[in-house]
Amino acid sequence: MHLNPYGEYAVLLAASLANDWPADRQGIVARTRELGMTVDFPEEADDYDRVRRVIDDWLVVVDTSDPHERAHLLNRHMASAAAYPRLTDHNDEGWHLHYRDNDARSLPHVLFAVVSVGTALHLTTRGMHRLHRCAAGETPGDPCAAVVVDITRNGRQRYCSVRCANRAAVRRHRARTAGTA
Ligand SMILES: [Zn+2]
Ligand SMILES: [Zn+2]
Repeated sequence: MHLNPYGEYAVLLAASLANDWPADRQGIVARTRELGMTVDFPEEADDYDRVRRVIDDWLVVVDTSDPHERAHLLNRHMASAAAYPRLTDHNDEGWHLHYRDNDARSLPHVLFAVVSVGTALHLTTRGMHRLHRCAAGETPGDPCAAVVVDITRNGRQRYCSVRCANRAAVRRHRARTAGTA
């Protein structure tokens, strides 16, 4: 996978897995392909559960809004993934950087490294606040817990979808008119 300077695809991959968790290992691999990873992963029996843990650890970062806490968590993740840059030229992709040992190829480990570094790049280049849950879900009883990766120009995306933005707008409107009725 080519991590662009913004780490965008790796963060979008993590959010895609978190928001729409695949039914099996094959579904996870298919998602990595959709988001641009070309590495073949040797299959291991506990891949599925271990990738789930990678996503759950990542969700702790999502739910930690304080920038210092966030940085601290991500630093810990990158350290334990041994996520340091390495030049590589696999699959005729051209020389690019991987953030892991070249012989570390298990699916959960590679995802852990790529997602940690990608998230760190995304936050440091676009802004530390550009990763959070959909604001619609802040209202008690609202079912949305989707992760929002804010790659918009102005960096003020609050909702995961137009549907959620509309639902929140309707609620605000109702609250206002209830007050004046
Ligand atoms: Zn690569
Ligand atoms: Zn939403």
